[in-house]
Amino acid sequence: MPKLFYLYEGGLKSLNNGNKFTNMYHCSSCGHSFKSLWDGVGNYYGVRPNDQIIYCPKCGSRFTEVTQKNDFSFMADGEYSPLSMRICLEEYKDSLRLTLSGKEIVCDEDSEYMFHHRLYKETISFNVAQRTAIYKRYINHKLIINYNLCNIFDTSFGRDTNLKFLNHRHITSIYAGDFKKILKLLRERLSKKLESKLKFKIKSMYVCHGNKGSYFIKPILNIAYRLAFTDLNNLSVIDYNYIYRKYPFYYGSADRNFYDLDDAYLSDERLKIISKAKDTISGLLEIANLPNKPAIRRLVKDKPFLLLRHKQIYTIAQGNIDTFNNINNCLEF
Ligand SMILES: [Zn+2]
Repeated sequence: MPKLFYLYEGGLKSLNNGNKFTNMYHCSSCGHSFKSLWDGVGNYYGVRPNDQIIYCPKCGSRFTEVTQKNDFSFMADGEYSPLSMRICLEEYKDSLRLTLSGKEIVCDEDSEYMFHHRLYKETISFNVAQRTAIYKRYINHKLIINYNLCNIFDTSFGRDTNLKFLNHRHITSIYAGDFKKILKLLRERLSKKLESKLKFKIKSMYVCHGNKGSYFIKPILNIAYRLAFTDLNNLSVIDYNYIYRKYPFYYGSADRNFYDLDDAYLSDERLKIISKAKDTISGLLEIANLPNKPAIRRLVKDKPFLLLRHKQIYTIAQGNIDTFNNINNCLEF
């Protein structure tokens, strides 16, 4: 993808003067950066530059916020945004690796000049032998971020990755078919590797990306989750909204949607225990030190993210499975 947005825009504090605001711009048609001073205009959020129609001084391209809003990249101080992107999927014996790379710009409002330009590379390695999905981000060839996406409660990925810019817009829609093809290949090849290793059928890892979200983020997080939690269901819309959008209470629901697991609890050591266990539920029961009984298995399978609450109730019932079941049913109701 040679370009991701028509125009990149950020603030520049140094030249602000009274009700006049400086903005800096990068035109992706010709690669020129420029800045300009605007009168302030008030709206619901406060006062901002009145820059609704912009002409690039080098190539003359005309940008209007009203018609091209979704393909403008509005950058806050310190944020980065990709100028270009190349996506590549590679297959190895025990793993698949998705790589994105290209150039990005960084908005620095205190800068004397304009945007900083730099190279980025991100890799996600889905490893069937290790049962991990390691995310790495490099800036100018230097590794700066490195973590495991199987920890589903760690939401950093949605902020760190440039995949967040591949949401449904005019420019990205040209590539929508290719995005779906890459994800399908990734799911199918990974399922095949898992099945030959674990000797049981892996249920489809397909989830919809969601209308407003990135084509990649939710599908990739679900694949990473299923790589560790192989025999559980895909992440539901409710799970995803709770974890990533922090909706603790869904419309009309009670607090039973409040998940008590968090990113600190799902450490690499505990994820390893889960992936080494006979099945996911046995692994979860092992890390919570709960007995492997049908009544408890059923509840954990239904609501795996309420593991610690199941544990609390079990402690109250002092090892009596019947009492545990009764209290749990009452709370569930
Ligand atoms: Zn231009």
